[in-house]
Amino acid sequence: MRRIYLDHNATTPLDPAVLAAMRPHLERGGNPSSTHQEGRAARVAIDEARSRIARILATTPEEIVFTSGGTESNNLALLGAARAARKRGRHVLSSPLEHASALGPLERLREEGFEVEHLPATADGRIDPAVLGRRLRPDTVLVVAMAANNETGALLPIDEIASALPREVVFHCDATQAIGKVPLPAGLARANLVALSSHKIHGPLGAGALVVRRGTPIEPVATGGGQERALRPGTENVAAIVGLSAALDRAVSRSREYGVRIGGLTSRFLEGLERAVPGTRLHGPREARLPNTVNVALPCPDGRALPIALDLAGVAVSSGSACESGAAEPSHVLLAMGIPEEDARRSVRISLGWDLDDEDLTEAVRRIASVVDRLGAQSEF
Ligand code: PMP
Repeated sequence: MRRIYLDHNATTPLDPAVLAAMRPHLERGGNPSSTHQEGRAARVAIDEARSRIARILATTPEEIVFTSGGTESNNLALLGAARAARKRGRHVLSSPLEHASALGPLERLREEGFEVEHLPATADGRIDPAVLGRRLRPDTVLVVAMAANNETGALLPIDEIASALPREVVFHCDATQAIGKVPLPAGLARANLVALSSHKIHGPLGAGALVVRRGTPIEPVATGGGQERALRPGTENVAAIVGLSAALDRAVSRSREYGVRIGGLTSRFLEGLERAVPGTRLHGPREARLPNTVNVALPCPDGRALPIALDLAGVAVSSGSACESGAAEPSHVLLAMGIPEEDARRSVRISLGWDLDDEDLTEAVRRIASVVDRLGAQSEF
């Protein structure tokens, strides 16, 4: 049976052009910290990748810190910035919609004596910048809001959040899901810290970056080496860094086309699904969303069986964030939006990508309808 992969927010296939850029660095040795020719060649590759990424993100090479991905970038940003600001204040304000890789370090900060306050989510999966403005306090040191939510695709109002913040408050934005899918919000320029990940944009797994704007107080989390300005010690993964830069270049230069092509596919898919499966309910906003993501409650009695039944029918979707799938609890994002637990449990996240066409999606709708039918019929039995 032909597989239909609808889980691009979990990860995307490696682009052959990115692999081609990486290949010489996978085949050739050379520690970038070594002073011999092999080491210097590796250093040049990293320097070039850093400059290219800085150009794409309109920042400077010194402001790019390479990491192993979005999770590590979020950990470094939140633990590093809050701990560095400890003497100034201990209040941290966050959207409740963040990925587990941000919620985890926030929990750690709470254990360390920070007061971590989650803002309320709006029913369509965003936060209200006016509420954020009212919750700011003189001891607020850090504000955390992602650019786009990985589960619902909702775009958060980054421009308005950025303009609500006093200059001394450090702003961290996880742009992992937004990059390459939508034009980057102007407000991102105000973010002191920006996290990104390579494997969401057809780059290799295990590579990412954190933009750390000049003058942002931050401490390393790991210690013991001087790499990445001692903020992220450890021998750099040269090939993965080169891959990240190639993937980012391709993703950002194609982001407008992504919106048109993938946005069109997604709306036709959603219309088809709503027609074929009456009772389908879309979570999150209809507008201001990622072009590739839909999160829907499907009308079947036991939602927990849905992703597995769809997988057996050859359709890959997820029940929420890949990092939390398999968890018994329904999605924290849907619950924060006020969606009843029962509805959250029968919701799936469907995320499209470049490799799909209308024919794949018509077939996916047919298979989803048939699975929902079967699960419903079993419950009546
Ligand atoms: N942030 C968001 C919004 C994500 O969707 C993900 C990936 N699920 C991450 C962070 C973590 O990125 P990585 O898989 O590279 O650790």
